[in-house]
Amino acid sequence: MWRFPSVGVDDAMTSTYWHPFADMGAVPGNELVVTRGEGIYLWDDQGRRYIDGSSGLWHTQVGHGREEIIEAIARQLRTLDTYATFGDLANPLALALADRLTALAPMPGAKIFLGLGGGDGIDTAAKLARQYWTVQGQPERLHLISRTFGYHGTHGFGTSLVGMPTMRQDHGPLIGSVSHVNHESADALEQEILRVGPAKVAAFFCEPVIGAGGIRPAPEGYMEAVGEICKRHGVLLVIDSVICAFGRVGTWFGYERWKIEPDMVVLAKGLTSGYLPLGGVLISAEIAAPFWAKPGGPVFRHGATYAGHPTCCAAALANLDILESEHLIPRGRELEGPLMDALSTLKDHPACGEIRGGLGLAAAVDLNADLVKESPGALARLTAGSRAAGLLTRVQATGVGIGPPLVIEPAQLHEIAAGIRAGLDAALAGA
Ligand code: PLP
Repeated sequence: MWRFPSVGVDDAMTSTYWHPFADMGAVPGNELVVTRGEGIYLWDDQGRRYIDGSSGLWHTQVGHGREEIIEAIARQLRTLDTYATFGDLANPLALALADRLTALAPMPGAKIFLGLGGGDGIDTAAKLARQYWTVQGQPERLHLISRTFGYHGTHGFGTSLVGMPTMRQDHGPLIGSVSHVNHESADALEQEILRVGPAKVAAFFCEPVIGAGGIRPAPEGYMEAVGEICKRHGVLLVIDSVICAFGRVGTWFGYERWKIEPDMVVLAKGLTSGYLPLGGVLISAEIAAPFWAKPGGPVFRHGATYAGHPTCCAAALANLDILESEHLIPRGRELEGPLMDALSTLKDHPACGEIRGGLGLAAAVDLNADLVKESPGALARLTAGSRAAGLLTRVQATGVGIGPPLVIEPAQLHEIAAGIRAGLDAALAGA
Protein backbone atom coordinates (compact mmCIF):
# COMPACT_ATOMS: atom_id res chain seq x y z
CA MET A 1 0.00 0.00 0.00
CA TRP A 2 1.26 3.49 -0.84
CA ARG A 3 2.10 5.50 2.24
CA PHE A 4 2.52 9.22 2.65
CA PRO A 5 6.26 9.81 3.10
CA SER A 6 7.07 10.82 6.65
CA VAL A 7 9.87 13.30 7.40
CA GLY A 8 13.05 12.48 5.52
CA VAL A 9 12.32 12.40 1.82
CA ASP A 10 14.85 10.26 0.00
CA ASP A 11 17.22 11.81 -2.53
CA ALA A 12 15.78 9.98 -5.51
CA MET A 13 12.44 11.71 -4.98
CA THR A 14 13.83 15.23 -4.77
CA SER A 15 16.35 14.96 -7.60
CA THR A 16 13.70 14.45 -10.28
CA TYR A 17 11.60 17.44 -9.28
CA TRP A 18 12.11 20.44 -11.59
CA HIS A 19 11.66 23.50 -9.36
CA PRO A 20 9.99 26.67 -10.69
CA PHE A 21 12.32 29.64 -11.27
CA ALA A 22 15.34 27.56 -10.26
CA ASP A 23 18.91 26.94 -11.41
CA MET A 24 18.49 23.19 -11.82
CA GLY A 25 22.21 22.78 -12.35
CA ALA A 26 22.69 23.83 -8.74
CA VAL A 27 19.57 22.78 -6.83
CA PRO A 28 19.66 18.93 -6.81
CA GLY A 29 21.16 17.77 -3.54
CA ASN A 30 20.81 21.27 -2.04
CA GLU A 31 17.06 21.43 -1.57
CA LEU A 32 15.58 22.91 1.55
CA VAL A 33 12.89 20.30 2.21
CA VAL A 34 10.06 21.86 4.19
CA THR A 35 7.97 19.27 5.96
CA ARG A 36 5.69 20.99 8.45
CA GLY A 37 4.00 24.28 9.24
CA GLU A 38 2.21 25.79 12.19
CA GLY A 39 1.24 29.43 12.64
CA ILE A 40 4.06 31.61 11.31
CA TYR A 41 6.60 28.77 11.58
CA LEU A 42 7.89 26.10 9.21
CA TRP A 43 10.15 23.10 9.90
CA ASP A 44 12.54 21.36 7.55
CA ASP A 45 13.36 17.66 7.31
CA GLN A 46 16.22 18.12 9.80
CA GLY A 47 13.78 19.47 12.39
CA ARG A 48 15.05 23.06 12.09
CA ARG A 49 12.46 25.79 12.67
CA TYR A 50 12.07 28.92 10.53
CA ILE A 51 9.81 31.98 10.54
CA ASP A 52 7.83 32.02 7.29
CA GLY A 53 8.99 35.56 6.57
CA SER A 54 7.31 35.86 3.17
CA SER A 55 4.20 33.68 3.78
CA GLY A 56 5.61 31.44 1.06
CA LEU A 57 4.92 33.70 -1.89
CA TRP A 58 2.81 36.25 0.07
CA HIS A 59 -0.05 33.80 0.19
CA THR A 60 -0.50 32.25 3.65
CA GLN A 61 -2.56 35.04 5.25
CA VAL A 62 -3.94 33.03 8.21
CA GLY A 63 -0.76 31.07 8.93
CA HIS A 64 -0.15 27.34 8.71
CA GLY A 65 -2.02 24.41 10.19
CA ARG A 66 -5.44 26.02 10.61
CA GLU A 67 -7.79 23.19 11.61
CA GLU A 68 -10.87 25.09 10.45
CA ILE A 69 -9.65 25.03 6.84
CA ILE A 70 -8.34 21.48 7.07
CA GLU A 71 -11.70 20.30 8.43
CA ALA A 72 -13.66 22.17 5.76
CA ILE A 73 -11.52 20.54 3.05
CA ALA A 74 -11.93 17.06 4.55
CA ARG A 75 -15.70 17.52 4.97
CA GLN A 76 -16.07 18.69 1.38
CA LEU A 77 -13.97 15.83 0.00
CA ARG A 78 -16.36 13.41 1.71
CA THR A 79 -19.43 15.17 0.30
CA LEU A 80 -18.65 16.23 -3.25
CA ASP A 81 -14.92 15.96 -3.92
CA THR A 82 -14.84 17.39 -7.42
CA TYR A 83 -17.09 18.19 -10.32
CA ALA A 84 -17.06 20.69 -13.15
CA THR A 85 -19.01 23.96 -13.45
CA PHE A 86 -19.03 24.31 -17.25
CA GLY A 87 -22.30 25.38 -18.84
CA ASP A 88 -25.22 25.20 -16.43
CA LEU A 89 -23.43 23.00 -13.84
CA ALA A 90 -22.86 24.35 -10.36
CA ASN A 91 -22.08 23.30 -6.81
CA PRO A 92 -23.19 25.00 -3.58
CA LEU A 93 -19.64 25.99 -2.61
CA ALA A 94 -18.85 27.86 -5.84
CA LEU A 95 -22.22 29.62 -5.67
CA ALA A 96 -21.72 30.57 -2.01
CA LEU A 97 -18.17 31.80 -2.57
CA ALA A 98 -19.22 33.94 -5.53
CA ASP A 99 -22.07 35.46 -3.50
CA ARG A 100 -19.82 36.12 -0.53
CA LEU A 101 -17.00 37.74 -2.50
CA THR A 102 -19.30 39.91 -4.59
CA ALA A 103 -21.19 41.01 -1.46
CA LEU A 104 -17.90 42.09 0.13
CA ALA A 105 -16.67 43.91 -2.97
CA PRO A 106 -17.16 47.66 -3.31
CA MET A 107 -18.37 47.00 -6.86
CA PRO A 108 -22.18 46.94 -7.09
CA GLY A 109 -23.57 44.18 -9.29
CA ALA A 110 -20.17 42.52 -9.73
CA LYS A 111 -19.74 38.92 -10.94
CA ILE A 112 -16.91 36.52 -10.25
CA PHE A 113 -15.18 34.07 -12.59
CA LEU A 114 -13.27 31.40 -10.66
CA GLY A 115 -10.08 29.71 -11.82
CA LEU A 116 -6.85 28.14 -10.65
CA GLY A 117 -4.62 30.94 -9.42
CA GLY A 118 -3.17 34.32 -10.27
CA GLY A 119 -1.66 33.74 -13.70
CA ASP A 120 -4.81 31.96 -14.79
CA GLY A 121 -6.85 34.97 -13.59
CA ILE A 122 -4.66 37.31 -15.65
CA ASP A 123 -5.36 35.25 -18.79
CA THR A 124 -9.06 35.36 -17.96
CA ALA A 125 -9.04 39.15 -17.49
CA ALA A 126 -7.02 39.77 -20.66
CA LYS A 127 -9.22 37.54 -22.84
CA LEU A 128 -12.39 38.98 -21.34
CA ALA A 129 -11.17 42.56 -21.87
CA ARG A 130 -10.53 41.87 -25.55
CA GLN A 131 -13.80 40.00 -26.04
CA TYR A 132 -15.75 42.70 -24.22
CA TRP A 133 -14.56 45.26 -26.75
CA THR A 134 -15.34 42.92 -29.66
CA VAL A 135 -18.85 42.46 -28.30
CA GLN A 136 -19.11 46.26 -28.00
CA GLY A 137 -18.37 46.55 -31.71
CA GLN A 138 -14.79 47.76 -31.17
CA PRO A 139 -12.66 44.69 -32.08
CA GLU A 140 -9.67 46.94 -32.82
CA ARG A 141 -9.41 47.68 -29.07
CA LEU A 142 -6.83 44.94 -28.49
CA HIS A 143 -3.82 46.61 -26.99
CA LEU A 144 -2.83 45.78 -23.39
CA ILE A 145 -0.50 47.92 -21.28
CA SER A 146 1.35 46.96 -18.11
CA ARG A 147 4.19 48.41 -16.00
CA THR A 148 7.92 47.95 -15.63
CA PHE A 149 8.67 45.59 -12.72
CA GLY A 150 5.05 44.35 -12.84
CA TYR A 151 4.57 40.60 -12.43
CA HIS A 152 1.43 38.91 -13.69
CA GLY A 153 2.27 35.22 -13.57
CA THR A 154 3.63 32.87 -16.19
CA HIS A 155 0.64 31.98 -18.35
CA GLY A 156 0.47 33.25 -21.94
CA PHE A 157 -0.80 36.76 -21.27
CA GLY A 158 1.12 37.10 -17.99
CA THR A 159 4.40 36.21 -19.71
CA SER A 160 3.68 38.93 -22.28
CA LEU A 161 2.62 41.50 -19.69
CA VAL A 162 5.49 40.94 -17.22
CA GLY A 163 7.55 44.10 -16.81
CA MET A 164 10.89 42.33 -16.29
CA PRO A 165 12.42 41.70 -19.74
CA THR A 166 14.38 38.59 -18.71
CA MET A 167 11.08 36.81 -18.04
CA ARG A 168 9.85 37.57 -21.56
CA GLN A 169 12.91 36.34 -23.40
CA ASP A 170 13.67 32.94 -25.00
CA HIS A 171 10.03 31.98 -25.59
CA GLY A 172 9.71 33.17 -29.18
CA PRO A 173 6.96 35.58 -30.20
CA LEU A 174 4.65 36.36 -27.29
CA ILE A 175 1.14 37.76 -27.42
CA GLY A 176 1.02 40.78 -29.71
CA SER A 177 -0.31 44.27 -29.02
CA VAL A 178 1.19 44.50 -25.55
CA SER A 179 3.45 47.25 -24.23
CA HIS A 180 5.02 48.34 -20.95
CA VAL A 181 5.28 51.76 -19.30
CA ASN A 182 7.31 53.17 -16.44
CA HIS A 183 5.79 51.89 -13.21
CA GLU A 184 5.94 55.22 -11.39
CA SER A 185 4.69 57.57 -14.07
CA ALA A 186 0.98 58.07 -14.76
CA ASP A 187 2.05 60.45 -17.52
CA ALA A 188 3.91 57.58 -19.21
CA LEU A 189 0.65 55.62 -19.32
CA GLU A 190 -1.20 58.50 -20.93
CA GLN A 191 1.57 59.03 -23.49
CA GLU A 192 1.46 55.32 -24.40
CA ILE A 193 -2.33 55.37 -24.77
CA LEU A 194 -2.00 58.39 -27.08
CA ARG A 195 0.85 56.74 -29.04
CA VAL A 196 -1.15 53.54 -29.65
CA GLY A 197 -4.39 55.44 -30.13
CA PRO A 198 -7.03 55.41 -27.37
CA ALA A 199 -9.52 53.59 -29.61
CA LYS A 200 -7.06 50.68 -29.86
CA VAL A 201 -6.28 50.17 -26.17
CA ALA A 202 -8.30 47.50 -24.37
CA ALA A 203 -6.92 47.52 -20.83
CA PHE A 204 -4.22 48.58 -18.38
CA PHE A 205 -2.91 46.03 -15.85
CA CYS A 206 -1.66 47.36 -12.53
CA GLU A 207 -0.52 46.00 -9.15
CA PRO A 208 -1.13 48.54 -6.34
CA VAL A 209 2.05 47.27 -4.69
CA ILE A 210 4.34 45.56 -7.20
CA GLY A 211 5.25 42.29 -5.47
CA ALA A 212 7.57 39.87 -7.24
CA GLY A 213 9.15 42.82 -9.05
CA GLY A 214 10.66 44.03 -5.78
CA ILE A 215 7.91 45.36 -3.45
CA ARG A 216 7.29 48.75 -5.02
CA PRO A 217 4.25 50.56 -3.63
CA ALA A 218 2.47 52.87 -6.06
CA PRO A 219 3.74 56.42 -5.54
CA GLU A 220 1.43 58.95 -3.87
CA GLY A 221 -1.37 59.93 -6.27
CA TYR A 222 -0.40 57.32 -8.89
CA MET A 223 -3.39 54.99 -8.51
CA GLU A 224 -5.94 57.83 -8.68
CA ALA A 225 -4.14 59.34 -11.68
CA VAL A 226 -4.09 56.10 -13.71
CA GLY A 227 -7.72 55.45 -12.72
CA GLU A 228 -8.69 58.85 -14.12
CA ILE A 229 -6.59 58.40 -17.30
CA CYS A 230 -8.16 54.99 -18.01
CA LYS A 231 -11.66 56.40 -17.51
CA ARG A 232 -11.02 59.38 -19.73
CA HIS A 233 -9.76 57.21 -22.60
CA GLY A 234 -12.25 54.36 -22.12
CA VAL A 235 -9.43 51.93 -21.24
CA LEU A 236 -10.39 49.12 -18.85
CA LEU A 237 -8.55 49.21 -15.52
CA VAL A 238 -7.51 45.71 -14.39
CA ILE A 239 -6.15 45.66 -10.85
CA ASP A 240 -3.86 42.70 -10.23
CA SER A 241 -4.52 42.13 -6.54
CA VAL A 242 -3.09 38.63 -6.45
CA ILE A 243 -0.74 39.73 -3.65
CA CYS A 244 -2.50 42.86 -2.37
CA ALA A 245 -5.97 41.41 -1.60
CA PHE A 246 -7.26 39.61 1.49
CA GLY A 247 -5.64 41.92 4.00
CA ARG A 248 -2.10 42.19 2.62
CA VAL A 249 -2.54 45.97 2.24
CA GLY A 250 -5.28 46.17 4.86
CA THR A 251 -8.41 45.74 2.73
CA TRP A 252 -10.40 42.88 1.21
CA PHE A 253 -9.63 43.49 -2.44
CA GLY A 254 -6.32 45.33 -2.26
CA TYR A 255 -7.44 48.54 -4.03
CA GLU A 256 -9.90 50.21 -1.63
CA ARG A 257 -7.27 52.57 -0.19
CA TRP A 258 -7.46 54.57 -3.41
CA LYS A 259 -10.39 56.33 -5.05
CA ILE A 260 -10.50 54.16 -8.15
CA GLU A 261 -13.17 52.10 -9.88
CA PRO A 262 -11.55 49.08 -11.52
CA ASP A 263 -13.32 47.13 -14.24
CA MET A 264 -11.74 43.85 -13.13
CA VAL A 265 -9.76 42.70 -10.09
CA VAL A 266 -7.63 39.56 -10.23
CA LEU A 267 -7.56 37.53 -7.00
CA ALA A 268 -5.71 34.40 -5.83
CA LYS A 269 -3.20 33.52 -3.07
CA GLY A 270 -4.88 34.87 0.12
CA LEU A 271 -8.28 33.70 -1.14
CA THR A 272 -7.55 30.26 0.35
CA SER A 273 -4.37 31.32 2.20
CA GLY A 274 -2.85 28.91 -0.30
CA TYR A 275 -4.27 25.78 1.36
CA LEU A 276 -5.63 24.79 -2.04
CA PRO A 277 -5.09 26.48 -5.41
CA LEU A 278 -7.83 28.92 -6.33
CA GLY A 279 -8.07 32.26 -8.08
CA GLY A 280 -10.73 34.43 -9.59
CA VAL A 281 -11.58 37.63 -11.38
CA LEU A 282 -14.02 40.11 -9.94
CA ILE A 283 -15.82 41.63 -12.91
CA SER A 284 -17.83 44.87 -12.89
CA ALA A 285 -21.53 44.85 -13.76
CA GLU A 286 -20.77 46.91 -16.86
CA ILE A 287 -18.26 44.42 -18.29
CA ALA A 288 -20.50 41.46 -17.45
CA ALA A 289 -23.69 43.04 -18.81
CA PRO A 290 -23.50 42.07 -22.49
CA PHE A 291 -22.67 38.45 -21.59
CA TRP A 292 -25.45 38.16 -19.00
CA ALA A 293 -28.19 40.24 -20.67
CA LYS A 294 -30.29 37.59 -22.39
CA PRO A 295 -30.22 33.97 -23.65
CA GLY A 296 -28.37 33.60 -26.93
CA GLY A 297 -25.97 36.45 -26.16
CA PRO A 298 -22.18 36.30 -26.45
CA VAL A 299 -20.45 33.41 -24.65
CA PHE A 300 -17.06 33.76 -22.93
CA ARG A 301 -15.49 30.53 -24.24
CA HIS A 302 -12.94 30.19 -21.48
CA GLY A 303 -12.53 28.23 -18.24
CA ALA A 304 -10.61 25.43 -16.58
CA THR A 305 -11.61 21.90 -15.58
CA TYR A 306 -11.16 22.90 -11.94
CA ALA A 307 -13.06 26.22 -12.15
CA GLY A 308 -15.32 26.49 -9.11
CA HIS A 309 -13.77 23.33 -7.63
CA PRO A 310 -15.98 22.56 -4.62
CA THR A 311 -13.14 21.55 -2.30
CA CYS A 312 -11.05 24.62 -3.17
CA CYS A 313 -14.12 26.82 -2.64
CA ALA A 314 -14.72 25.15 0.75
CA ALA A 315 -11.15 26.04 1.72
CA ALA A 316 -11.74 29.64 0.60
CA LEU A 317 -14.96 29.98 2.60
CA ALA A 318 -13.29 28.65 5.76
CA ASN A 319 -10.35 30.99 5.17
CA LEU A 320 -12.69 33.99 4.75
CA ASP A 321 -14.35 33.00 8.05
CA ILE A 322 -10.99 33.21 9.80
CA LEU A 323 -10.05 36.49 8.13
CA GLU A 324 -13.36 37.93 9.35
CA SER A 325 -13.61 36.44 12.84
CA GLU A 326 -9.99 37.23 13.75
CA HIS A 327 -10.18 40.73 12.22
CA LEU A 328 -7.16 40.00 10.05
CA ILE A 329 -8.08 42.20 7.09
CA PRO A 330 -6.93 45.50 8.71
CA ARG A 331 -3.72 43.84 9.96
CA GLY A 332 -1.86 44.52 6.73
CA ARG A 333 -2.32 48.24 7.31
CA GLU A 334 -1.85 48.13 11.09
CA LEU A 335 1.47 46.31 10.75
CA GLU A 336 2.92 48.26 7.82
CA GLY A 337 4.47 50.89 10.14
CA PRO A 338 5.83 48.38 12.68
CA LEU A 339 7.33 46.29 9.83
CA MET A 340 9.13 49.30 8.39
CA ASP A 341 10.27 50.36 11.89
CA ALA A 342 11.75 46.92 12.48
CA LEU A 343 13.48 46.84 9.07
CA SER A 344 14.78 50.40 9.33
CA THR A 345 17.12 49.19 12.11
CA LEU A 346 19.09 47.51 9.28
CA LYS A 347 19.88 50.78 7.52
CA ASP A 348 23.20 51.18 9.34
CA HIS A 349 24.44 47.77 8.10
CA PRO A 350 27.14 48.20 5.43
CA ALA A 351 25.63 45.39 3.32
CA CYS A 352 22.15 46.94 3.36
CA GLY A 353 20.84 48.75 0.30
CA GLU A 354 17.39 50.21 -0.31
CA ILE A 355 14.52 49.19 1.99
CA ARG A 356 11.14 49.41 0.24
CA GLY A 357 7.62 49.04 1.63
CA GLY A 358 5.37 51.02 3.93
CA LEU A 359 2.16 50.06 2.17
CA GLY A 360 0.79 46.86 3.64
CA LEU A 361 2.55 43.97 5.31
CA ALA A 362 5.12 43.62 2.52
CA ALA A 363 8.63 44.95 2.18
CA ALA A 364 11.95 44.35 0.46
CA VAL A 365 15.50 44.71 1.72
CA ASP A 366 18.06 45.16 -1.04
CA LEU A 367 21.72 44.42 -0.76
CA ASN A 368 24.13 47.30 -1.16
CA ALA A 369 24.50 47.64 -4.96
CA ASP A 370 28.32 47.90 -4.80
CA LEU A 371 28.50 44.68 -2.80
CA VAL A 372 26.37 42.87 -5.40
CA LYS A 373 28.65 44.16 -8.18
CA GLU A 374 31.85 43.19 -6.40
CA SER A 375 30.65 39.89 -4.96
CA PRO A 376 28.22 37.98 -7.17
CA GLY A 377 27.56 35.35 -4.45
CA ALA A 378 26.32 37.98 -1.98
CA LEU A 379 22.63 37.37 -2.64
CA ALA A 380 22.98 33.63 -2.05
CA ARG A 381 24.89 34.32 1.20
CA LEU A 382 22.17 36.74 2.33
CA THR A 383 19.53 34.02 1.93
CA ALA A 384 21.70 31.31 3.46
CA GLY A 385 22.67 33.52 6.42
CA SER A 386 19.02 34.31 7.16
CA ARG A 387 18.07 30.65 6.89
CA ALA A 388 20.83 29.70 9.32
CA ALA A 389 19.31 32.25 11.71
CA GLY A 390 15.85 30.68 11.34
CA LEU A 391 14.22 32.95 8.77
CA LEU A 392 12.87 32.13 5.30
CA THR A 393 12.51 35.04 2.89
CA ARG A 394 11.77 35.26 -0.83
CA VAL A 395 14.90 35.93 -2.83
CA GLN A 396 14.37 38.72 -5.39
CA ALA A 397 16.59 40.25 -8.07
CA THR A 398 18.45 42.62 -5.75
CA GLY A 399 17.62 41.43 -2.24
CA VAL A 400 14.91 39.68 -0.28
CA GLY A 401 11.13 40.09 -0.07
CA ILE A 402 9.24 39.99 3.22
CA GLY A 403 5.53 39.54 3.92
CA PRO A 404 4.74 37.28 6.87
CA PRO A 405 1.31 35.81 7.64
CA LEU A 406 -1.16 38.41 8.92
CA VAL A 407 -1.31 36.57 12.26
CA ILE A 408 2.24 37.63 13.13
CA GLU A 409 2.70 39.62 16.34
CA PRO A 410 4.49 43.00 16.16
CA ALA A 411 7.34 41.74 18.39
CA GLN A 412 8.02 38.93 15.91
CA LEU A 413 8.71 41.51 13.21
CA HIS A 414 11.92 42.27 15.10
CA GLU A 415 12.85 38.58 14.85
CA ILE A 416 12.49 38.94 11.06
CA ALA A 417 14.78 41.99 11.12
CA ALA A 418 17.30 40.02 13.22
CA GLY A 419 17.21 37.15 10.69
CA ILE A 420 17.89 39.56 7.82
CA ARG A 421 20.71 41.17 9.80
CA ALA A 422 22.31 37.72 10.11
CA GLY A 423 21.96 37.35 6.34
CA LEU A 424 23.55 40.77 5.74
CA ASP A 425 26.45 39.76 8.03
CA ALA A 426 26.93 36.60 5.96
CA ALA A 427 26.72 38.54 2.68
CA LEU A 428 29.47 40.87 3.88
CA ALA A 429 31.61 38.20 5.50
CA GLY A 430 31.96 36.26 2.27
CA ALA A 431 32.84 39.29 0.12
N1 PLP B 1 -0.01 38.42 -10.30
C1 PLP B 1 0.73 38.80 -9.26
C2 PLP B 1 0.72 40.22 -8.81
C3 PLP B 1 1.52 37.86 -8.57
O1 PLP B 1 2.29 38.24 -7.55
C4 PLP B 1 1.49 36.52 -9.00
C5 PLP B 1 2.31 35.51 -8.31
O2 PLP B 1 3.17 35.79 -7.52
C6 PLP B 1 0.70 36.18 -10.10
C7 PLP B 1 -0.05 37.15 -10.72
C8 PLP B 1 0.64 34.76 -10.58
O3 PLP B 1 -0.06 33.98 -9.69
P1 PLP B 1 0.09 32.37 -9.73
O4 PLP B 1 1.48 32.08 -9.31
O5 PLP B 1 -0.97 31.89 -8.78
O6 PLP B 1 -0.20 31.97 -11.13
